[in-house]
Amino acid sequence: MIDFSSTLPGLSGLPSADPVASGRLSVAALLDHLQHALVVLDVEGRVVGHNHCAREMLELPLTLLQKQPLIDDVVRWQIKRGDLRGDAQRLVERVWYHLRRVQETGQPHIYTYTTAGGRTLQGTTIAVPGGGWVRTYVDVTRHAQAANFLRESEERFRSLTELSADWYWEWDAEGRYTRLEGRLIRETSTAEMFLGRCAWDVPALNRPTAREWRPLIEAFEQRRVFRRFEIQRRLQDGRVVWFSISGMPVYDAQGRFAGYRGVGRDVTRRKADQATIERLAFYDSLTGLYNRRSFQDKLTQAQAASARSGQWSALCFIDLDNFKDINDAFGHGVGDQLLQTVAKRLREAVREEDTIARLGGDEFVVLLEDLDREEEQAAWRAQHVAEKIRVALERPVTVDGHEVQSTPSIGITVFRGRSDAVEDILGRADLAMYHSKAAGRNAVRFFDPAMQEAVLARATLQRELRHGLRDGELRLYGQPIVDDKAQVVGYEALLRWQHPLRGMVSPAEFIPVAEQSGLILPMGQWVLRQACAHLAAWARDPQRAHWTMAVNLSARQLRQPDFVQSVQTALAETGANPSRLKLELTESLLLHDVEDTIVKMAALSAMGVQFALDDFGTGYSSLAYLKRLPLDQLKIDRTFVRDILDDPNDAAIARTILQLANSLELSVVAEGVETVAQFETLRAMGCRLFQGYHFGRPTAL
Ligand code: C2E
Ligand code: CA
Ligand code: CA
Repeated sequence: MIDFSSTLPGLSGLPSADPVASGRLSVAALLDHLQHALVVLDVEGRVVGHNHCAREMLELPLTLLQKQPLIDDVVRWQIKRGDLRGDAQRLVERVWYHLRRVQETGQPHIYTYTTAGGRTLQGTTIAVPGGGWVRTYVDVTRHAQAANFLRESEERFRSLTELSADWYWEWDAEGRYTRLEGRLIRETSTAEMFLGRCAWDVPALNRPTAREWRPLIEAFEQRRVFRRFEIQRRLQDGRVVWFSISGMPVYDAQGRFAGYRGVGRDVTRRKADQATIERLAFYDSLTGLYNRRSFQDKLTQAQAASARSGQWSALCFIDLDNFKDINDAFGHGVGDQLLQTVAKRLREAVREEDTIARLGGDEFVVLLEDLDREEEQAAWRAQHVAEKIRVALERPVTVDGHEVQSTPSIGITVFRGRSDAVEDILGRADLAMYHSKAAGRNAVRFFDPAMQEAVLARATLQRELRHGLRDGELRLYGQPIVDDKAQVVGYEALLRWQHPLRGMVSPAEFIPVAEQSGLILPMGQWVLRQACAHLAAWARDPQRAHWTMAVNLSARQLRQPDFVQSVQTALAETGANPSRLKLELTESLLLHDVEDTIVKMAALSAMGVQFALDDFGTGYSSLAYLKRLPLDQLKIDRTFVRDILDDPNDAAIARTILQLANSLELSVVAEGVETVAQFETLRAMGCRLFQGYHFGRPTAL
């Protein structure tokens, strides 16, 4: 072994100071035991020292080292054996370049290379003070293998994600995306859309609120594995896609939760296929309408909905009268086109929200929901729609140059709630359809004969009312409105119909019919005109000049574009004072198109016309809502007045309305006052205006 102390003055001081060396173990022996290879170069670059490990690790023969070769020779030897690769002269130059640099800078030079035998060595060259170098080597083969393995697996993984339609992602412990990899991610440049954000913080079309994200957030919070969580997103290029992500929690070496990792998949195609399958399963392929199976579901849902809302619904069963003949005469092609035309006309005849289905053959059904809270009114509406359908279907159809006509027979039944089985409802409508056939086809019939009668009666009423209006059978009655001293301050105009056979018909009976048929428009105009004429007459009588006239308005009147104009005309033509005219509106009337209503009310109110809110307390008006309207008066509905002495609730409501009106600076009329006790009670509460049988019944004006 080489004696270091003799060749290298820089190292010579070390051994004697070392307790190990000074006693039992020489430095040379100690260095031989090292797991690091050690090579010492003198100022000229000769290998003047090495330890045992150096020979083994570098696989240099002792014969070579014993000659104290120049580093240049060692390099050439290594090239020859294949440890180093490249041009010998250039490599030697490189070695010397580094040796000099180490001397100049005092910084060690670290490098790695792999020997012909497959070992990876990491060498470190340091300068020795006074000249020369020490080189140490560590065998990093296993390390290098591990790093290599990692790099390779990473590359494998990358190429897989590149190839597949899926992508890989990672979240940190807060659930924020920290990594996204895959072809799709790159091609759609969606990485920046997600990185640093939680999945639930990036807008999704199918999960508009936090509630829809709950399952994912909960899985994350509970560190559960989740599978195929579906998200519909709009990408930056505007495309709408479906993603499905699956993930599992990740823990670090200490078992601490570190986040999640998982995969994502584009399932847009599958979703589209699913939709197609659904369409085939739920829709009739010829007409695109619902098929029998999905219609039964719709009917069940409609039952549940009507149980909640308390609204009546109706089912219309439609059968074409001579479809079979047409099919036989012109062939199936024509028959199919006729059925398609029927489907189209049905869609046009009903509202968007009504449900239409083809049960098979030439049988169709239409489900009409939310018709009315009153059974009779609902039946009336259903009859109206069914009649519209009948007229639409009875029109001839031209198919392939043939004009064909197939009238419908329609049966109707109404239902509310869940008490009937779906089959029973369908069965009733079907049976009603046979009534139509029996009645000569091309007709509409109800299942319930009483209902059929009621609807017929109503149709008659409508016809007669039209004639009554034309023949001057309407009368204007009036009921006095009094102050707290029971002095008349005005009247409410109330309509009556003097029917030649039925006698006096109540407006409660004919106003709904008039509204539905549109007769309310000429009728309302007539009332307004009469009322204004009375106002004008009163104005000439000092006793009555201050009286006001209240006129009831229907929603339909108010919705007329020329409503303001028509009131102005009535006032102008009669010469009535606008500030004596009071128009009564109901709350339900205000629910519809508030903005338009406010504009019209404001226009009339600017002329001095006043407004009262009728039947107050029965609707849903909020305070904020009332404030926006140019109102002058509230009329407490007579149902609260009726029991005001016995029912503390009603008394409380009346008192509240009075306070509310007071704070909004509105006057209040108590309606339906029938007794002196009611009058006194209301007066004690602060009410100043009254109306009811106690002061006078409606009489001819
Ligand atoms: P309304 O506007 O609430 O009119 C008050 C109704 O209560 C009137 O019934 C009146 O006769 C009745 N009434 C008055 N005092 C008492 C009382 O002390 N006790 C009881 N039990 N009832 C009382 P009427 O005249 O049968 O009118 C019914 C509804 O018909 C009116 O209710 C109003 O909504 C409507 N109506 C009447 N005339 C017209 C009109 O010209 N146009 C429009 N659109 N609707 C009208
Ligand atoms: Ca009224
Ligand atoms: Ca009223």
